[in-house]
Amino acid sequence: MGPAWPQRSALPALGEGEAISVAAERQLGDRIIRELYRDPDYLEDAVLDEYIHKLWTPLVDAAASRGELSPELRERFAWRILLGKDRSVNAFALPGGYLGVHLGLIAVVTSRDELASVLAHELSHVTQRHIARQMEAQGRMTPWVIGSLILGALAASKNPQATQALVVGGQAAAIQSQLSYSRDMEREADRIGFGVLSEAGYDPRGFVTMFGKLQQAAGVNDNGSYPYLRSHPLTTERIADMQSRLPLGVAITGGLQDMEQAMVSARARVLSQSQVDSLRAWTQLPVNLPAQATSAQKAGALYAATLAHQLLREPEAARQQWQNLQSLTTRNTAAARLSRLLGAELQAARGEYPQVVQALQPSSMTPRWPRPELVATAQSLAHLPTHPATNTVVQQLRQQVQGNPHDAQAWNLLATLLAGQGQKLGSLRAEGEAQLARMDLQGALDRFRAAQDVARLGRLQAGDHIEASIVDTRVRQIQEQLREMQKER
Ligand SMILES: [Zn+2]
Repeated sequence: MGPAWPQRSALPALGEGEAISVAAERQLGDRIIRELYRDPDYLEDAVLDEYIHKLWTPLVDAAASRGELSPELRERFAWRILLGKDRSVNAFALPGGYLGVHLGLIAVVTSRDELASVLAHELSHVTQRHIARQMEAQGRMTPWVIGSLILGALAASKNPQATQALVVGGQAAAIQSQLSYSRDMEREADRIGFGVLSEAGYDPRGFVTMFGKLQQAAGVNDNGSYPYLRSHPLTTERIADMQSRLPLGVAITGGLQDMEQAMVSARARVLSQSQVDSLRAWTQLPVNLPAQATSAQKAGALYAATLAHQLLREPEAARQQWQNLQSLTTRNTAAARLSRLLGAELQAARGEYPQVVQALQPSSMTPRWPRPELVATAQSLAHLPTHPATNTVVQQLRQQVQGNPHDAQAWNLLATLLAGQGQKLGSLRAEGEAQLARMDLQGALDRFRAAQDVARLGRLQAGDHIEASIVDTRVRQIQEQLREMQKER
């Protein structure tokens, strides 16, 4: 299933031939993202989200410190990555500083440097305003049309049937040519991306080995699972150019894969290919390892097998593989942590919720819990209404959304826990904020109005007066926004 096509009224109008402003590009990105959030392929996964943003943030910082990213753009664009469950190897920049990454890409990389090189290239398309320049070149197209084209192209990139539908509509070729970057833009994204990658502390050889990997795959794989290649044609010239930027005498190797990367890739692989046959194959990985396998390869195989058994609902086999993973990773902090999180996932699936809360409890007095631990703990507490840890976790979730108001998942968990505590008003407000974070204005308005009803009818608890006044403000803001959109219709 591809993303739904937006309604005509859902996109801002723009004068013909007018250059697109930063604000208009962000607005267009927001509307596209709103559709992507509703796509069944959209994936909320705290472990993978954290990993990809950990790679992404230093790149954005490096682009800013090199002067590639203006303070205005940094302030007004979203700089957020959305994950798609699709197995195809793809990453794409969207208007407004959003990036889409398919799990297939995370699954094929062998090092963080390779993954970061793709992100750096896409980031540079954004910082160089390539999307805005494309849109200017499409002078006569309204942003609505451009938004539709982008969504259509995204659907086509992963669903062969959607491509068919577009061909029938006679639009496919036109879409491809209108949305693809020029060769000059590609060269610029390579050149600037390379600098940003190095500045951020990654090994720039990642750029070259990633190219090599994509080229090799292109030769053997023609089933359409590498749409990244279609939008970024690899030329010998581009590869040679990247090689020439490396210092002389540097050997071009893939670099050593670390355990953490291997486990994250394994997770992406299993979640993007989770039909029963594939899951069966993943469970066999540890058995089929070559004798000289590295510990990273072993960790990846055990992680994949554990998760696959889990998804096949074979808890005992999952537990056995997980114990092997546990003993393999004890001396590697990052790998041991991923293993602990996976173990908690197994416990939650067995309904052992108090054990999850126990297992993921931060060991020291950390002011802020890491997000994956917080999310998993809150999910378990949703089944334990009177658990003593609930107050602490509610407090942690409040801190999380204060720092990241766009964290819809955290808002939703907060809503659930508050409802369990009988805090109806706060819970409805949190639900509204979650809808708002996903750009669903009408859905948010419904929740905030329900919250207003509670405030009018119910007896307010401590803190509710503040909630009630925030809710009133939100209702006014959204009504204003909806009126603006009505005018643009
Ligand atoms: Zn590109």
